[in-house]
Amino acid sequence: MSVKVSNLKASVDQFDRAADLLGLDENIRNSLRMPDRELSVEVLLRRDDESLESFKGYRVQHNNSRGPFKGGIRYHHEVDIDEVRSLAALMTWKTALVDIPYGGGKGGITIDPSGYSERELERLSRRFFRAIDPVIGPNKDVPAPDVNTNAQVMAWFMDEYGQMHGHTPAIVTGKPISLGGSLGRESATGKGVAITVRETASKFGVELKGATVAIQGFGNVGSYAGKFLGDMGCKLIAASDVHGGLHAPDGFDTDALFDYAYEHRTIKGCGQGKEISNDDLIALEVDFLIPAALGGVIHKMNVDQINCRYVIEAANGPTTPPASETLFEKGVHVVPDILTNAGGVTVSYFEWVQNLQQFQWEEEDVNAKLERKLVNAFKEVAALSDKKKISLRTAAYMVAIDRVARAFELRGV
Ligand code: NAD
Repeated sequence: MSVKVSNLKASVDQFDRAADLLGLDENIRNSLRMPDRELSVEVLLRRDDESLESFKGYRVQHNNSRGPFKGGIRYHHEVDIDEVRSLAALMTWKTALVDIPYGGGKGGITIDPSGYSERELERLSRRFFRAIDPVIGPNKDVPAPDVNTNAQVMAWFMDEYGQMHGHTPAIVTGKPISLGGSLGRESATGKGVAITVRETASKFGVELKGATVAIQGFGNVGSYAGKFLGDMGCKLIAASDVHGGLHAPDGFDTDALFDYAYEHRTIKGCGQGKEISNDDLIALEVDFLIPAALGGVIHKMNVDQINCRYVIEAANGPTTPPASETLFEKGVHVVPDILTNAGGVTVSYFEWVQNLQQFQWEEEDVNAKLERKLVNAFKEVAALSDKKKISLRTAAYMVAIDRVARAFELRGV
């Protein structure tokens, strides 16, 4: 069960906590609380049966002090302006934390795409991109995939933009490799999650070999994280997806589980482990619990059942702010989303750089640069958390907000 929290309130509360500790100037604080621009559009769709439907679409640009706005576009029936605003701000802090030259943005359409044909989704995507065209551009705002959008949707976006402005691969990231996508992008977020687990283990003196792991959500992020953690010697003992969970106390064969999930888009029927509910998975006694599916899955109603030593937030916002505080008081460290899942936007940045240079990097180069970015960010956050005796989350926000505030001040108004 997940809890729908006010995303906006949670992100503003978190911002204020870190801004207080930084002693941030009141004027800068007011500006950074507010998005720079919000565009709300009607997206018309001519359905295959010739009927006409109308949807709400959004693009929110939170802050671009450090570079063009950057952030995904989500197709989901719960998308609303409140959610898009908070996710746009999250991108400002995430890009600043890993020190890539972007600001933060986010977009979405309020739609459950499962009821629509591929052709309908293509028409909808192209129409939406035309509607937000005035505010996007490779040096203005660079969209990417998010929930229920993928490399194909990015290919339609790129094509639509190209028809209006000429061939511009750098207009979106997360594209298919054959259209200028980056090698290593698909696995980047999961790889970043595994690097975060490794760095957490090293900081807190946990033996990585044999450390137990449970992953909620074995999709793109969760499955790659599971595979890389298996390679590092961790013991993945539970995993789940929307169809339910599996428990293997002696550890999964992570390569086989990954291959099965990649092929079947679920772990159900993989022939390993015993069935377990998602609620029971969250309560398992493990070293590392990795929520990699939805927001709000660890909340005040279930926080007392959490039995892990570290929560590694692979999803965006999986721990509600009060639950996060409770865990900190209990001595359970939560490694925040803006650090843990920043691998995706980091390689998106590499993709954009490759597109601007019209030059493709080798996958080893991409992975080595990703590793360096994430390790640097982790070390900075860990050092501040130790110095100030604050949670890793508050430390991460302090590093990020400080960086954005300095850029904001230097530019002047
Ligand atoms: P995905 O759609 O590939 O995978 C999501 C997984 O969660 C699927 O296995 C799905 O079955 C499972 N799931 C859905 N509802 C569930 C439920 N109620 N209980 C348990 N499992 C459930 O998505 P993804 O790209 O892996 O993204 C996962 C999370 O990571 C999201 O919160 C996303 O915003 C965040 N994230 C993703 C990226 C990226 O690069 N893909 C980057 C940053 C953050």
